[in-house]
Amino acid sequence: MSLTNELALASLLTVTDRAALLETFGDRVHFDEPLASYTSWKVGGPADAFAVAESEDEVAQVMALCFKRKLPWFVIGSGSNMLVGDGGIRGIVLRLGGAFTSVDARVEDGRVLVDAGASAKMEMVTARAASLGAIGIGSLAGIPGTVGGSLRMNAGTDREIGDFVSEILVQSPAKPKPHAIAVQYFYRHTTLARDAVVARVHLAFEQGDPKAVREEMQARLVRRKSTQPVAMPNAGSCFRNPDGDKAARLIEAAGAKGWRVGGAEVSTLHANFINNVGGASAKDVATLLARIRRTVFEKFGVELQLEVHLVGVFVDAEKS
Ligand SMILES: Cc1cc2nc3c(=O)[nH]c(=O)nc-3n(C[C@H](O)[C@H](O)[C@H](O)COP(=O)(O)OP(=O)(O)OC[C@H]3O[C@@H](n4cnc5c(N)ncnc54)[C@H](O)[C@@H]3O)c2cc1C
Repeated sequence: MSLTNELALASLLTVTDRAALLETFGDRVHFDEPLASYTSWKVGGPADAFAVAESEDEVAQVMALCFKRKLPWFVIGSGSNMLVGDGGIRGIVLRLGGAFTSVDARVEDGRVLVDAGASAKMEMVTARAASLGAIGIGSLAGIPGTVGGSLRMNAGTDREIGDFVSEILVQSPAKPKPHAIAVQYFYRHTTLARDAVVARVHLAFEQGDPKAVREEMQARLVRRKSTQPVAMPNAGSCFRNPDGDKAARLIEAAGAKGWRVGGAEVSTLHANFINNVGGASAKDVATLLARIRRTVFEKFGVELQLEVHLVGVFVDAEKS
């Protein structure tokens, strides 16, 4: 193994760091934990530490440790929009559980109000909001992520989660207690600071007829199942749509449907999805992403931008 790879793969945690994490998290922290099972692509090497924080206090504690020790940390939701490198992630990977999974939905003054913890599943949020007749909730149906991840991504379809946010509470190393911040929302990204952990989100919708809202949502879910490989391990759309066009259309026109590298394959159903058809590595997926990008540029002069986040260490194990 080269010295560079060895350094990129070496854990940053000292014995003292591990002891501090064990003291805070007990059996909810795992060291050198493979991340593949925490991502929808089922790909990714180990995290130096993987910890599940069940309260705002625990998030604050881990931030204090990272701040003091200058350790990198990364927050993961459902892992449905990320490609984790085969070399894994150095530092601490934090997942939110416990109090962060709660969802409260109610009707007030003709509006449907949802108060969700950052780790609540969008599936739960959309089902609860639809049952109360939240107009527009169908645009968020079928997104297999958490509220926090969806906020970071400004996830959605014809409408996006940012359209419905009334308040967002975050924690950060400089301000570890949950506090409200203003965020601007753009197509699949926001102005949320890199070191901000979303703790809770308040959403507000106009109220309509619950039956009509539920039926519309159901129709969208059925349409999704027939147009996207939702049962396969993938991360949804890999590339953002360029202005005035669709990434899937360009990729299909480039002839990339069905292209395969190792265990990664461009979906034959939806060209902007890459499926793990068995034993894919991050390198396989990344190679396919690069090939698609190059071919679309050569054929159409369009530089596709990644929607999925590439995180961690991408090492070439064969050459090391
Ligand atoms: C089958 C399929 C269909 C999909 N369809 C859609 C779609 O229609 N529309 C769409 O927009 N997306 C879609 N996606 C992509 C993905 O589901 C969304 O981007 C989702 O919102 C990501 O949420 P997550 O919890 O999985 O985030 P993750 O993938 O875990 O994380 C994504 C980013 O958010 C950050 N993050 C996660 N939690 C927090 C937090 N609490 N605070 C701060 N940052 C955080 C992470 O650090 C990372 O940078 C699809 C994915 C799949 C697999």
